[in-house]
Amino acid sequence: MKQFDVVVVGLGVMGAAALRELARRGFNVVGVERFMPGHDRGSSHGETRIIRLGYFEHPSYVPLLQRSYELWRELEADSGRKLIRITGIVEIGMPVGPLISGTLAAARQHNLAHDILDGAEVMRRFPVFRIPSDYVGVWQPDGGFAAAEATVEALIELATAAKAKIRSNVSVLSIEPHGHGVLVRTSVGDIEARTAIVAAGPWLPTLIPNLPAPLRATREVMAWFKPRDPAPFVPSRLPVFILESRHGMHYGFPVSRAGHVKIAKHHHRNETVNPDDPRRLVSEVDEDLIRSVLKSHIPAANGPLAAATTCFYTMTPDHDFIIDRLPGAPNVIVASPCSGHGFKFAPVVGEILADLAIDGGTGHDISRFRFDRFG
Ligand SMILES: Cc1cc2nc3c(=O)[nH]c(=O)nc-3n(C[C@H](O)[C@H](O)[C@H](O)COP(=O)(O)OP(=O)(O)OC[C@H]3O[C@@H](n4cnc5c(N)ncnc54)[C@H](O)[C@@H]3O)c2cc1C
Repeated sequence: MKQFDVVVVGLGVMGAAALRELARRGFNVVGVERFMPGHDRGSSHGETRIIRLGYFEHPSYVPLLQRSYELWRELEADSGRKLIRITGIVEIGMPVGPLISGTLAAARQHNLAHDILDGAEVMRRFPVFRIPSDYVGVWQPDGGFAAAEATVEALIELATAAKAKIRSNVSVLSIEPHGHGVLVRTSVGDIEARTAIVAAGPWLPTLIPNLPAPLRATREVMAWFKPRDPAPFVPSRLPVFILESRHGMHYGFPVSRAGHVKIAKHHHRNETVNPDDPRRLVSEVDEDLIRSVLKSHIPAANGPLAAATTCFYTMTPDHDFIIDRLPGAPNVIVASPCSGHGFKFAPVVGEILADLAIDGGTGHDISRFRFDRFG
């Protein structure tokens, strides 16, 4: 049996980024995906993902983001595709809320460009918003969005061009330590490799039943609304935004070419689901959870529902990523850079995973993402 340097299990955006980086470095790699890469049954679909630097989740993510921005630019140049669009970002909420206080802490600690706007100034600059006078906005010029499916496509194309092998519509059944490497059993036969990178998204706990982390898949909903007047939603007038209100934390994008405004609620219903039985039908209850914020704060977007779909977050209890070797199986590297905020990191995660697989370590600080934090 031919032995690969690395087998990558799962070709969502993280697996695709790792595959591409390993192939670019000249290693003999194979990626295995149970569907077709770019599919809409995992976590990496839905047209767009927000990218931003001042990170309310924790300031320690900022250096990774700064490297990721560099790599996004390289990825665009290498693929010849426009994958990110910088619109700026405005984050809106009460000054004491986790969104505003967290973003300001990260921005100040890392000297990131930002402006604080009072509520009236937010509504003057971005007239689609109706917000209470005690809300503020934090404007960051570096925010924007990445094209979701196009990024996966670009990574797979570049990986293939650099001689990576792709096995689509092939399910991995198990990953076992084997001699000095791993044996990956799939629906169409076995694969031997020195190292496995497992980036199986919400299916990680099924694939690695002894995973030392309490992961859960949550059902998320994205919705596209048709505003009566798209003019105030065009990217030159409206940046990407996050709005924390009594309705929860919602985020949205400028109007698409199709004339639709995509808006979603972060941690939609915080509902744990089986990724093989995710209830993909979007109900009126789902729609209302998103419409509530439109009615209160973005009435001009409260038009007909144009489309809606579901997606998964793979959540850790502390909402930080997992990027670590599997305890007891050092040739198995597990990557779950999700908890609902990983996409923007995909290029730097690809770099980190390739470093770990080939060099045994990485210069990036990934101490926050270890398994042993779960005791
Ligand atoms: C609604 C929504 C909005 C989001 N918004 C943002 C945002 O604005 N900004 C941001 O940065 N992040 C955002 N995220 C998070 C981001 O999209 C995820 O962190 C990222 O897509 C995770 O990618 P992944 O490759 O780890 O997982 P996935 O995309 O789920 O990929 C896992 C892959 O593994 C495959 N697989 C699983 N099991 C097997 C098996 N046994 N054999 C073979 N293949 C297998 C699956 O088919 C799948 O393709 C959002 C996520 C969602 C759902």
